[in-house]
Amino acid sequence: MASQEGFNQSPPYVDVDLFASDQPLKEVVAANGAEDEALLLAAFGRRWGAADMIEQARLANENPPKLHAYDAKGFRRDVVEYHPSYHHFLKESIGANLHASTWTAEGEREDAPAEVARAARCYMVAQVENGHMNPVTMTRAAVAALARQPDVTAEMLKKVVTRHYDSSFRPWEEKFGLTLGIAMTERQGGTDVRTNITRAEPTSDGYELTGHKWFVSAPMSDAFLALAQAKDGPTAFLVPRFRPDGTVNALEFQRLKDKLGNRSNASTEMEFDKAFGWRIGGEGDGIATIMASVQLTRADCAVGSAGLMRGALAQALYHARHRNVFNKPLSDQPLMRAVLADLALEVEAALALALRLCRSLDLSAAKDSERARARLLTPVAKYWICKQAPAFVAEAMECVGGNGFIEESVMPRLYREAPVNTIWEGSGNVLCLDVLRMLAQDRDAALGVVAEIKKAAGDLPGAKEAASFVEQSLANPGSDFVARAAVERLALLAAAEAMRAASLPFTEAFASTRLAGEGGETYGARGLARASVDRLIQRAMPE
Ligand SMILES: Cc1cc2nc3c(=O)[nH]c(=O)nc-3n(C[C@H](O)[C@H](O)[C@H](O)COP(=O)(O)OP(=O)(O)OC[C@H]3O[C@@H](n4cnc5c(N)ncnc54)[C@H](O)[C@@H]3O)c2cc1C
Repeated sequence: MASQEGFNQSPPYVDVDLFASDQPLKEVVAANGAEDEALLLAAFGRRWGAADMIEQARLANENPPKLHAYDAKGFRRDVVEYHPSYHHFLKESIGANLHASTWTAEGEREDAPAEVARAARCYMVAQVENGHMNPVTMTRAAVAALARQPDVTAEMLKKVVTRHYDSSFRPWEEKFGLTLGIAMTERQGGTDVRTNITRAEPTSDGYELTGHKWFVSAPMSDAFLALAQAKDGPTAFLVPRFRPDGTVNALEFQRLKDKLGNRSNASTEMEFDKAFGWRIGGEGDGIATIMASVQLTRADCAVGSAGLMRGALAQALYHARHRNVFNKPLSDQPLMRAVLADLALEVEAALALALRLCRSLDLSAAKDSERARARLLTPVAKYWICKQAPAFVAEAMECVGGNGFIEESVMPRLYREAPVNTIWEGSGNVLCLDVLRMLAQDRDAALGVVAEIKKAAGDLPGAKEAASFVEQSLANPGSDFVARAAVERLALLAAAEAMRAASLPFTEAFASTRLAGEGGETYGARGLARASVDRLIQRAMPE
């Protein structure tokens, strides 16, 4: 062992307090109305940063789920077997109520700061294990749609909102806790769900669904919010794993997707072979019904990607702190400090924007202006934060050097995980089109949000010019062609405004390097002032 003393390697990044060691997180949580949660969040941060959790995350991802489509005699089974570590995480997250803390047992919104308090936890979870968050986020989002049909879902929702993770394969009536999946995407159309060809025929006790779903994640969920064509058009259904008579419903799992990342979580191709379903909402109202859920999954993508970025940054900072090069720690080398500080600034902005969006979700029932802000900023925040994450993680990986490219470090997992949030729940272009849709539907409300952000951010460097650009582009969109430029500028402006609203000390630095910046494209090349560097690194250092 003595020969290992000069190895100059950083110690394992474990047993970190993910809340207490994250100064920007503490400030943003408090500024968005969840200051009373600090003690609970600190306990959560210690739990999730523990060595045991980091090890469980490795196991859950190195032992991906297995499909058992048939049994030994050729009878259909259609079950997915997960590693115990995956179940461990679902037990933790559901035990912490991340799947339901924003809902009452009746499917009504919980009071503020439920969204912000949950998002702060999800941000920490994303740093450790992200795959299991798919059923967690879909369960909480599906409630928004299911609550529209209480005659069908009221009893089931009571079991959704328990903190009991029950992985048994039984009819929902016999279980102590339930999870929900979402089945929209088909082969011929994911974004364009109007092209769905799965059919729904009414029966004496519900509907029979026949068709194929090209992506259905978390297939061991107890029921799926699904879209199918009924007589009057696309319609939402709740499709349980077991029929009301207790027999297994006709959901055939054909294949597991062999995915780039998100490997602890299973995603299937699924056939509905006259599967039983209850209608949710009116016939033909399916897209509107499902959009209530999609807003929440999109917000979760933004929070999750901000968390992935924080996870990668923490690894980079920790390594740089402990690794010596040319006789001093990497974290003391000026050029590395420029990169680390710039990365840290990006995380502060992503976090501030994501939690400000959650604040709007918290307040949207009480205030029209916050509802409009949540509507506009959900696609905007998802667009920008999720799109930043892959390049961000790559840069952080580079800070860790060769070790960052090796599987045992967490970096490859974070890197593989990052792109999925840009694709599912609305890819980049689709989010830009969604912003334009809001303008078409409620132009005054959308421009009112922009005006409000402009007023609050107006004297920050570059803010006026950015706001004018956004207003002009959105007021006269002409064609979709300009939408990305407008949405990106709006995201930067909204992030700067969210940082200011949270009194973050580097709001000006963000605005001057991103909104007014004449610097380069890459981290460390954007002209961040030297004076900002020390404190940005200090605020982000996970020790
Ligand atoms: C790991 C994983 C798990 C998933 N799990 C689920 C699940 O559980 N349930 C579910 O329903 N789905 C799931 N999906 C599917 C996912 O939601 C879709 O892949 C996504 O919505 C995109 O749809 P698509 O793949 O059909 O791509 P397309 O709709 O073909 O889109 C391809 C590209 O075209 C762009 N585009 C689309 N329309 C326009 C336009 N008008 N103008 C310009 N550009 C446009 C999109 O932004 C995208 O970049 C999952 C996907 C993945 C990768």
